[in-house]
Amino acid sequence: CKNMVKMQNTFLRNLRHFTSGVSHIKTPIDSYYNHYINLPLPNNKVLATYVWIDGSGINLRSKDRILDKVPCDLSMVPKWSFDGSSTGQAKTNDSDTLLIPSAMYKDPFRKSPHILVLCETYYGDGSPTPTNFRAQCAKALSKISDQEPWFGIEQEYTIFDNDMWPLGWPKNRGFPALKSLFSYCGNGEHVAGREIVECHARACIFSGMDYGGSNAEVMKGSWEYQVGPSLGIKAADDIWMGRYMLNRIAEHFGSIISYHPKPMGKDQPGIGCHHNFSTNKMRDKEGITEIKKICEIMCDQHDKLIKNYGLGDSEENKKRLTGKFETASYDKCRWGVSDRGASIRLQKMVLVKGKGFLEDRRPAGDCDPYRVCALLAETCM
Ligand code: ADP
Ligand code: MN
Ligand code: MN
Ligand code: MN
Ligand code: MN
Repeated sequence: CKNMVKMQNTFLRNLRHFTSGVSHIKTPIDSYYNHYINLPLPNNKVLATYVWIDGSGINLRSKDRILDKVPCDLSMVPKWSFDGSSTGQAKTNDSDTLLIPSAMYKDPFRKSPHILVLCETYYGDGSPTPTNFRAQCAKALSKISDQEPWFGIEQEYTIFDNDMWPLGWPKNRGFPALKSLFSYCGNGEHVAGREIVECHARACIFSGMDYGGSNAEVMKGSWEYQVGPSLGIKAADDIWMGRYMLNRIAEHFGSIISYHPKPMGKDQPGIGCHHNFSTNKMRDKEGITEIKKICEIMCDQHDKLIKNYGLGDSEENKKRLTGKFETASYDKCRWGVSDRGASIRLQKMVLVKGKGFLEDRRPAGDCDPYRVCALLAETCM
């Protein structure tokens, strides 16, 4: 029995090395793992990871399926189903929930020919599940397809250590000494988690996402990545797939990714998801007139938009939209040029050139970009 306990402890120790992904520690498990990972598979066999948004509206789920040929396009990826009662999406006695493939990416974890498949979720009767906003987004976008809507989305997030305290913060639940002053686009002791950001950038670009860039954010341990500008629904698809890959990469490092809009309380910066938007009218000569018109409409619809700009009914986003930390207060809407304290910001270049795009700064880090893009599109109808 003593021997068993010893064996178990050794096993757990090895497992910990293995799961924490500390690359300089070479355990036997690493070499066994590499052996299996590198086994040659028959050429036609493809591991497909189906990814979907669960009933929480922010967490992602995935499961794997082996395909017998390499799919050339989405139509060759079969529909599938899952147990919706285990994901907050269905009742136990009627739990079959459908996965409808909606976008395909190269799998950066397994590399080619393996794929990631972003899916929409539906009930058997053909109705979308409550957290599936993609269908209505696609519909709204199709109505303005002649206006060629482009979206560029900035996703901010916070990296937590496995003790549930932000990465790089003092371990005794203390706060960073030089609060908020040197972390934005910072380096050295002012940032934490750059290895995750580096891995994520490569993974996103490899996958076929329109990955645009990244920067360290105002709160130590928080970062941002951008996608776009992309035509139509691709930016929103890419943000969701980017979130999935970020969660997966954080697994290697024993870290946890949070998209909460105000994770560390009122005295610390918030976490947003700015949506940049333009149509051909806004990008063309004299586009500024159209941009201003849309800004006015976006402010007129402020209350409706705000309710849709964060997880659920967006209550947590009110903690972020205080008027401090480069936000405008949630109870009013204001647009302005070069103003990071405005709800909607136009870059100075837009005014100089008289055309371009606008930036809606109100969406929360945990927003659903399908909901936001759909509403932005509706302002142009
Ligand atoms: P900032 O942090 O100053 O707001 P970023 O560089 O982080 O700026 O983000 C700018 C975003 O604007 C990017 O996501 C980019 O894709 C997007 N963008 C640039 N041009 C357009 C455009 N014409 N239409 C829509 N989005 C755009
Ligand atoms: Mn099963
Ligand atoms: Mn940005
Ligand atoms: Mn930012
Ligand atoms: Mn921005």
